[in-house]
Amino acid sequence: MIYYLLVFYVLFQFGWWAYLLVDLNREVYNQKIASLKKVDSAPELIQENQVLLKKMHERWLMVASEGIVFLSLLLLGVFITRKAIYKEVALARQQKNFILSITHEFKSPLAAIKLNLQTLLKHQFEKDRQQLMLSQAIHETDRINALVENALLAARLEGHSYKLDAEEVSLGELVSLALHSRTYMTYSHPLDIQVEPDVFISGDTLSLTSAVLNLVENAEKYSPENNPIKVEVIKQGRHALLRVTDTGPGIPDEEKGKIFEKFYRVGNEDTRRSKGTGLGLFIVRHIADLHHGSILVKNNQPKGSIFELRFPLTNQEPSS
Ligand code: ADP
Repeated sequence: MIYYLLVFYVLFQFGWWAYLLVDLNREVYNQKIASLKKVDSAPELIQENQVLLKKMHERWLMVASEGIVFLSLLLLGVFITRKAIYKEVALARQQKNFILSITHEFKSPLAAIKLNLQTLLKHQFEKDRQQLMLSQAIHETDRINALVENALLAARLEGHSYKLDAEEVSLGELVSLALHSRTYMTYSHPLDIQVEPDVFISGDTLSLTSAVLNLVENAEKYSPENNPIKVEVIKQGRHALLRVTDTGPGIPDEEKGKIFEKFYRVGNEDTRRSKGTGLGLFIVRHIADLHHGSILVKNNQPKGSIFELRFPLTNQEPSS
């Protein structure tokens, strides 16, 4: 509100300044004409009048052209400031949402761990039951750990302090290993893993594993239980492609560009049912960038989304 009032005030002052200049110019002209009338004869008066008229028009032109330049600069400034303010407001809102969601994400596993430990302390259960409760507690601890790891990785990627430990890796092997060694595997969705052998890229195993897990866990999180998820690694021209396809709700076209921003989550925090922090895809995008690759999202048919990570191959066949 204050911003718009200020803009209105500045534009009004600007218009007022232009009007005064034009008016002053006309006044000067009128006074000079009046003083000429007293002394000059008619033909000289006409000639002088034309000279003065020309001067006045030239000054008007100068005021108009300078005015246009100033006004354009002013409007450009207004536009840039408005954009920056909106960006800042959106980021502040997303940060607030992040704090809300991360505290929520921590609270529920911590409560589950505490409950399990208290129950174990109070009651004497047989060994199987004890084992089950302890492994549930470990599962929740792994979830918290993954959350913390993700937040740390996001901070390091953003601060450019992540050191890439690049080596030649088989993308297919990396994907299979990452998906089979998850400690907090949910088994809620059948995974269809199809990897081509010998798809080698120059990459950092740790961050690539994180990218794979973020994409697959999103597919699991956002699609209804038991819906299959397809994970593919294929060669396409000079690129290695990692594709994750789900049959969930999909992502509206207007959100496709925004979901890779930090803390961005589709919809409103109050209406969102799924857990999350809005960091996963931000991390994936950074990891793609670090590997000179790219990430894109497409619609799956008839429903769902396809996330495609693309990296340059190291084992390119020489082009004939
Ligand atoms: P988070 O999942 O923690 O909210 P992400 O950065 O991983 O954060 O994702 C950003 C947003 O993109 C999510 O909030 C969700 O709305 C949307 N999204 C991501 N993956 C999918 C998917 N596979 N299907 C539908 N929506 C998705």
